[in-house]
Amino acid sequence: MKKGREKPLSRGHPWIFSGAVEKAEGEVSAGDLGEVFSHDGTFLGVGHLNPGSQIVFRLLSRKRGEDPGDLLRERIAKAVAWRKRSLQGKANAYRLVNGEGDFLPGLILDRYGEVLVLQLLTAGMDRWRDLLIGLLVEILRPPVVYERSDAASRREEGLPERRGLLHGDEIRNLLQIEEYGARFLIDLGKGQKTGFYLDQRENRHFLGEGAEEKRILDCFSYSGAFSIHGGLGKAKELTLVESSAEALSMAEEHFKLNHLEALPHQMLRGDAFEIMRNIDPGYDVVVLDPPPFAKKKGQVLRASRGYKDLNLQAFRLLREGGLLLTFSCSHHVSLDLFQKIVFAAAVDAGKKVQVLNRLGHPVDHPFDLSHPEGEYLKGLLCRVV
Ligand code: SAH
Repeated sequence: MKKGREKPLSRGHPWIFSGAVEKAEGEVSAGDLGEVFSHDGTFLGVGHLNPGSQIVFRLLSRKRGEDPGDLLRERIAKAVAWRKRSLQGKANAYRLVNGEGDFLPGLILDRYGEVLVLQLLTAGMDRWRDLLIGLLVEILRPPVVYERSDAASRREEGLPERRGLLHGDEIRNLLQIEEYGARFLIDLGKGQKTGFYLDQRENRHFLGEGAEEKRILDCFSYSGAFSIHGGLGKAKELTLVESSAEALSMAEEHFKLNHLEALPHQMLRGDAFEIMRNIDPGYDVVVLDPPPFAKKKGQVLRASRGYKDLNLQAFRLLREGGLLLTFSCSHHVSLDLFQKIVFAAAVDAGKKVQVLNRLGHPVDHPFDLSHPEGEYLKGLLCRVV
């Protein structure tokens, strides 16, 4: 590494950017294991290399010569064990391994009931696919392992999209999962993310707990998971806003599956920006859970305008005493910035607003304190007075 550039790594940050590299020795291709040294020759760690990516090194170990199989087995087993303890009985779908947050850069592993869904995000992890399948079968004995390595970030690693069965028999039907008593269907091949937005589980549960007799507006609803929790919590009426027709037809299935067909609900398909501007106020609760607007640093300003517009509309639509659950999952929008945007929206809407709580990831989506970039979901629970 260049002189003086080793500090983040030596304090626990797992990444090295290309600009911090003094020189590379030997032939290096994407996905190789490599060792990193400080300017004075001190060994710093072993990790996955990718000369074609901006992040050229991802730390795996501080020890030399560790067997990759042993390393993976130990870290996966640890990550799985504590999740079992904290999530058993609450949900049977959750994240088992959260990449850097579980000290396994590039590896995402979700469970949907008995089925495992694997997502490999780096060239190094991609190369370990077969090793990983073997280990997962050995440790967790899943009937099926499915791959959903189709995140856009793979392109930056020079990897193609991949999805399909890795182990077990092809699943023909939709999977059914449970989350705090709510039931959902997962389409392994087609659903967004690895099939479901597992990261919003606790926030949906929270909404359900306080939903009784409420008129709820669920914006960016996807397959209606917030609404279903609201419905099971005896909401009076639900309005879902979502651009994807497929997501809304899945939402309709979810109403049936949870015996909520008779509950007054409407689904507004289209652009939430447009729709929110054109509906009448009077909601008790508004949920705003948009997709990431700033995927790159240069998009933060545009993203901020988008968030402000949405939150302004949400404040306009809420009655006095109403609650707003507002989220940003943009890596590049900090909680501090997000809070400022929501503040500006409240000012423009002419509303006085209290923040009752901050909302974020659940325990199965940890981030490494040395790697704050791992915290992407930021949310505020606001009350309009
Ligand atoms: N709240 C959901 C997850 C939302 S993800 C849950 O708990 O499961 C964001 C959703 O916004 C996606 O389903 C995406 O299809 C939808 N979306 C993206 N842009 C949109 C727009 N402009 N208007 C409405 N929906 C949009």
